[in-house]
Amino acid sequence: MVAPALRLALHDAVLASRRLVIFTGAGLSTESGVPDFRTPGSPWTANKPIPFEAFIASAEARREAWRRKFTMDDSFAGAKPSPVHRLLADFVREGRAIGLVTQNIDGLHQQAGTPAEKLVELHGNGTYATCLDCGMRHELHVIRPVFEATGRAPRCEDCDGPVKSATISFGQRMPEAAMRQADRWSREADLFLVIGSSLVVHPAAQLPLVAKANGAALVIVNREQTPLDPAADLVVRGEIGEAFAGLSFQEPKDRGLAPSGL
Ligand code: NAD
Ligand code: ZN
Repeated sequence: MVAPALRLALHDAVLASRRLVIFTGAGLSTESGVPDFRTPGSPWTANKPIPFEAFIASAEARREAWRRKFTMDDSFAGAKPSPVHRLLADFVREGRAIGLVTQNIDGLHQQAGTPAEKLVELHGNGTYATCLDCGMRHELHVIRPVFEATGRAPRCEDCDGPVKSATISFGQRMPEAAMRQADRWSREADLFLVIGSSLVVHPAAQLPLVAKANGAALVIVNREQTPLDPAADLVVRGEIGEAFAGLSFQEPKDRGLAPSGL
């Protein structure tokens, strides 16, 4: 159970913030049915993403990467944004948050209505694919039937380059523009709110410290400890859905004077 005093402190911190930056990890999507990496028994253990170098090096690794990707996609097909995904989208739309940085690749922040220009996907997006040579976008619903019929990993019809899920694999270079934007928001934040990240994947896990060094308060919501808990101003331990359930973030309405004649 999330301690009521922690929920209250979380509520107060968000209400007091004027330049909120939200940072989310795989833990946010477990309540939508998308498994995270590090919780024991995760299906990602049997279907580990293939490191980038191996993907580049062999056709066999590319085939295996696509097989695992489609297996994992099937395990959470139809996942829908949770109430917290929707609440965070509201924070961004209403201007309460200046930006949302995610490590997630599941597309659920977009589905919840988070505006694209306020969303940075540090690890890319697994709902489509790109050619590694020319950058052309490829759709999974086109790739999959061909892959299943031929057993061959897809290649770009334009330049014959290898086509890969549009995620950032271990060993792959971070997307520069995304990192720059995330860094900029982290420096501008007055409150940096981490939700559902183990904070062990770098360089993403550096951002809370960048925010902190530039004057932000750091709040971490997670069911287990993270290496940055000692640096946090508030740690809300427990389930994410429960931490936010029933909290209202509407500003108190200025009721003004009753209209005359009433
Ligand atoms: P992680 O799996 O390392 O950590 C998730 C954290 O969330 C864990 O500490 C776990 O205890 C906690 N958690 C899980 N469910 C929770 C809940 N309901 N309430 C509170 N806490 C909960 O994930 P990460 O830190 O995001 O790093 C993993 C990497 O794997 C990322 O780079 C990400 O790109 C990728 N990944 C993404 C997805 C996704 O898009 N949904 C899923 C798995 C992995
Ligand atoms: Zn190409």
